[in-house]
Amino acid sequence: MLIKEAARRAAEDTLATHWRGRDFPVDPFEIAANMGVRASEAPLEDGTSGMVISRLRTQPVIFVEESETRPRKRFTCAHELGHFVERTETLGDLREGFAFVDKRTSKTDAHEFYANEFAANLLMPEDAVRRLEDEGCTLIRMAGYFDVSVPAIEVRLRRLGIRLVPAASC
Ligand SMILES: [Zn+2]
Repeated sequence: MLIKEAARRAAEDTLATHWRGRDFPVDPFEIAANMGVRASEAPLEDGTSGMVISRLRTQPVIFVEESETRPRKRFTCAHELGHFVERTETLGDLREGFAFVDKRTSKTDAHEFYANEFAANLLMPEDAVRRLEDEGCTLIRMAGYFDVSVPAIEVRLRRLGIRLVPAASC
């Protein structure tokens, strides 16, 4: 399966299990807690936006840089959760322990690609994006609806091949 598809499916499964019947915006911190991961804000080292750490016999933790904007913190939390899900799904257990540290300048490898796709699908599921598109929503309204940054919804729309009509009405 393509990484993109695997990440999408994992995000959909996560929503179905941990956010069923709930409304938008999706709360990745609450989903993390439901999955047994303690996610919180903290002052991180310069240039670090987030990290996920899973050690033997301890509760996995996610930290996101506290000085970021709320939409960015939400996306980073979902991104770190993506690393956690990929790692736990791939290995099937947590015997090894692992850690990912994300710098703002991190280069994109397969794991980063997976984590970003997971986060986008978790916070902005395709069916919901298309529904807002049908309703004629503007970029700003969509960003507000999903509580993501404008650049995040722009990337999401581009990747879904969606072009908003200029005369949006919602
Ligand atoms: Zn990452």
